[in-house]
Amino acid sequence: MQVDRDFDALIVGGGIAGLYLLYRLRGIGMSALAFEAGPNVGGTWYWNRYPGCRCDVESLEYSYSFANDLQQEWNWPERYGTQPEILKYVNYVAEKFDLRRDIRFSTRIKSATYSRRKMLWTLSTDKGENIRASYCVMATGNLSIPQTPDFHGIERFKGDWFHTGLWPHEGVDFSGKRVGIIGTGSSGIQSIPHIAQQADHLYVFQRTANFSLPARNGPLDPQIEQRHKSEYPARRKAAFDTPFGISGYPPPDKSALEVSEKERTHIYEQKWQEGGQISFLYAFNDLLLNKASNDTAAEFVRQKIRKTVNDPTVAELLAPKSHPIGTKRLILDTNYYETYNRSNVTLVDVSHQPIEEISCDGIQTGDAQYIVDSIVFATGFDAMTGAILDIDIHVEDGFSINEAWKQGPTTYLGLMMAGFPNLFTITGPGSPGVKSQMILSIEQHVDFIADCLQHLRSRDLFQIEATFEAEESWVKHVKDVADSTLYPLANSWYMGVNIPGKPKVFMPYVGGVHTYKQKCDDVVANGYTGFIMSP
Ligand code: NAP
Repeated sequence: MQVDRDFDALIVGGGIAGLYLLYRLRGIGMSALAFEAGPNVGGTWYWNRYPGCRCDVESLEYSYSFANDLQQEWNWPERYGTQPEILKYVNYVAEKFDLRRDIRFSTRIKSATYSRRKMLWTLSTDKGENIRASYCVMATGNLSIPQTPDFHGIERFKGDWFHTGLWPHEGVDFSGKRVGIIGTGSSGIQSIPHIAQQADHLYVFQRTANFSLPARNGPLDPQIEQRHKSEYPARRKAAFDTPFGISGYPPPDKSALEVSEKERTHIYEQKWQEGGQISFLYAFNDLLLNKASNDTAAEFVRQKIRKTVNDPTVAELLAPKSHPIGTKRLILDTNYYETYNRSNVTLVDVSHQPIEEISCDGIQTGDAQYIVDSIVFATGFDAMTGAILDIDIHVEDGFSINEAWKQGPTTYLGLMMAGFPNLFTITGPGSPGVKSQMILSIEQHVDFIADCLQHLRSRDLFQIEATFEAEESWVKHVKDVADSTLYPLANSWYMGVNIPGKPKVFMPYVGGVHTYKQKCDDVVANGYTGFIMSP
């Protein structure tokens, strides 16, 4: 047994995952300390404050389920939570459960080193401290390392520039300014209508058109809220039996090709009016499996774009053709396509004439220069692996995570990496995390980890690691499942293609939350198959 440890467990990250893990570890009597790079809790909801930022999962689903009083007492004002509302909620949780006292804020972990001999992880902070514990958990989030393309000349730009994922806390006033926004993923599509209302002129630099559906956001009907809350226990349980971890959408039983064109269009129209991505993807049972079926949904949305946008050339540029619908994050918007009918908005197609450089007063593409006062980079994140690889994680006399993941991330169940004992990840690569209601997946992972640590302790065991065989077979399974779907047809951040030099590997598990949870439960029921536990 170790004697020189400072804590039982160290947690990297004070977002939704880190907070719940802290709560659970306290509950089982373990001492734990969390480190958070930001000055307060919230993780992704702390940093992403761009105009229009809100969750694309409905508020009543996107919330913790672990404490019934919490889910009953919190009121969500709108169908989809805004960033300030969600951050307020996370702060409320931290307060309610007195979690802040075990979090070191404004502290970044630089390295994590494991000694097999001592069975200890030593984490080194950017303040020069070294802290030791038996277990280390990466609650670092999947979208926490913003990616700004390495555009030549950015240092010469005389105006202001911002990344959506690192937005100034005091907000930005674009009144009277010429603004250029680069990127039309979720962050770009949410912020463009808001910036357009304020700016003198907005240039949108689009490389790839994306599919977006109307969110149909609005105030939450108190009766709907009340009913949902009264059904919470059953709904939370039911969510685990669904592919995306969201309750309330009966699974479809028909292929898009089984019905007449008239019926198909009628169903898509209903879903379009209802709003929401799960609802739409649940129109038929094969939209993410069969390209011909998917084409019908994609064409329905393209037609909607053509009807909404007045200028046919602009409409055609906005109509996505590069990937099947749903294989990149299906975006929810409010007035996105309508924004292109404003006279102060210009769509700049950079698919053939890419941005070449940033000059002192604007953005230079292959064929034109755009003079702007401010630039917004809505250019995404080094997703899923970025925050983990940012820390020098290694095992003494063993290897580092950078070496282990050279060809792409390898994990067992997205929870542990072979060769790295007592190190866990939450919703990491190989798990359904980013393809699910994140908070539900976070809770499931945290519960798995807390139960596992309790299991070890009750048997006087201290060390757990995934076997290489179990990891190899899980990685193959994750790939096989992805290859049986249309997901790999898109150049998405799920594949790592947005980061130069990143291995092109489909990272999330898309077998569904229901299948995944069953597999985890079976692993536990069978005595933690695929893991080695030692005294
Ligand atoms: P993203 O989906 O990765 O989009 C980045 C955008 O930047 C893409 O349009 C990309 O074009 C463009 N881009 C990157 N480099 C470029 C370059 N050199 N020149 C021109 N364009 C360039 O990032 P995101 O919008 O921040 O969203 C990331 C994820 O965060 C989402 O998928 C979602 O999971 C999550 N998110 C969720 C919400 C929500 O809940 N509502 C909101 C925001 C974000 P290409 O496609 O051509 O690469």
